[in-house]
Amino acid sequence: MNEQEVLETFKIITKYYEECLKDYGVKSIKLKDSKGNYTKDALVLVYLARNYPNTKAISKTELTDFVRKFYPDVSDVQQARHLSKQGGYNIISGTRGDIGAKIGAGYYQLITLEKPYPSFKPDRRSGIESADFESLKKEYDYKCATCGSIEGKPHNIRKNEITKLQEGHMNPSLPLEIGNIIPQCQVCNRPDRDRWIYDKTGRVIEIADSDDGKRVVEKYFKRVSTHTKEYFLEFLKKLLKLR
Ligand SMILES: [Zn+2]
Repeated sequence: MNEQEVLETFKIITKYYEECLKDYGVKSIKLKDSKGNYTKDALVLVYLARNYPNTKAISKTELTDFVRKFYPDVSDVQQARHLSKQGGYNIISGTRGDIGAKIGAGYYQLITLEKPYPSFKPDRRSGIESADFESLKKEYDYKCATCGSIEGKPHNIRKNEITKLQEGHMNPSLPLEIGNIIPQCQVCNRPDRDRWIYDKTGRVIEIADSDDGKRVVEKYFKRVSTHTKEYFLEFLKKLLKLR
């Protein structure tokens, strides 16, 4: 991949980023650092996006070899994993065992630049403005929407912890923005982060479309009666029009 191709591919990435990914809170990648060198993130992303949309699975060795042309000392390129997990880019990994991934261990593939990585949620710090969150908390009388613990006071259940209200995602598949945020304490927000969809009153109303959500459903199916399993088998057949 020559310099020209790097620049052209990065242009395509930027275009998709602005049009599709930015609103999801996907991390913006700089082409060059302050010293004018290509960033490793940009190099890895560009290599994975080569010939976009006709991308292919790339081995970690191949990625490392490419980055080494610019950073000769690099031994282990972790960028692809970070770009998807923390950055939100839709890069699947054979090693991570992504559901439906048909690529070998140690391989990565950029699936699309139009949608973020399915279970990606933006960094909580990039949520709403603090003034907006302040007025939202006020609407809730500074109480956790789910358990009612009051900010700054001992937590209702974990009495030795002081309640801190956080921006709780109502639906984790949607961006963290006004209309999709409820104040939740550190206890209610954390463990269920990816499992549930909440309503404005902090009640669970649905299971989230996420890896955590899938695990909840799997557990459910293992536990229920054969009758219920058969009911859903028929239901899914109809839904998927398998008849
Ligand atoms: Zn709570």
